[in-house]
Amino acid sequence: MNDIDKLTEYFKEFPGIGPRQAKRFVYFLLRKNARYTNELAELIPRVRKQVVTCPDCFRYYVPQGTQTNCAICSASDRQPSTLMIVARDTDLEAVEKSDTYEGNYFVLGGTLPVLEDDIQKYIRLRELEALIAKRQTAGLRELIIALNANPDGDNTARFLKQKRTPLGLIISILGRGLSTGSELEYADSDTIKNALKNRA
Ligand SMILES: [Zn+2]
Repeated sequence: MNDIDKLTEYFKEFPGIGPRQAKRFVYFLLRKNARYTNELAELIPRVRKQVVTCPDCFRYYVPQGTQTNCAICSASDRQPSTLMIVARDTDLEAVEKSDTYEGNYFVLGGTLPVLEDDIQKYIRLRELEALIAKRQTAGLRELIIALNANPDGDNTARFLKQKRTPLGLIISILGRGLSTGSELEYADSDTIKNALKNRA
């Protein structure tokens, strides 16, 4: 495999990128000047080095000073009574940007495919359970499941609902002003606001 093909393979692994687009990325980089490509190449390990995952919510963040949690988990003005479960950081960011939710989050890391038994491979179940136990003593009462409206998202919501029901927590699923198959990440602020209001 030559290096052009190798680089194409790397880009093919990016979410939503097919072989044709991957090749286009390679040629795009070849057209850019050396400063651009050098900066890009240096930035990747630098970002990796700076960014850590929050030990509570598992979102990515850049630690400031002696802070051991992300800014959301360490904020004193967040509502301790609700915990919103999202699949990815980008979903969390979409909800934060809508400025309609004041509780805490948990980033599940993905969704659970239908008929899949190896749960921990797809979602951070153990970590979620540890956080729920910790937050229940701090007044947690409701889990809001905010996953994409597709078969894997629905399957994960069903699984989590079954799993948590005996613990005396309210479990609600984010209402959908979103049509089937639409993604939280791309929902606008009004849609998220309505979905939150219509959770059930
Ligand atoms: Zn956090």
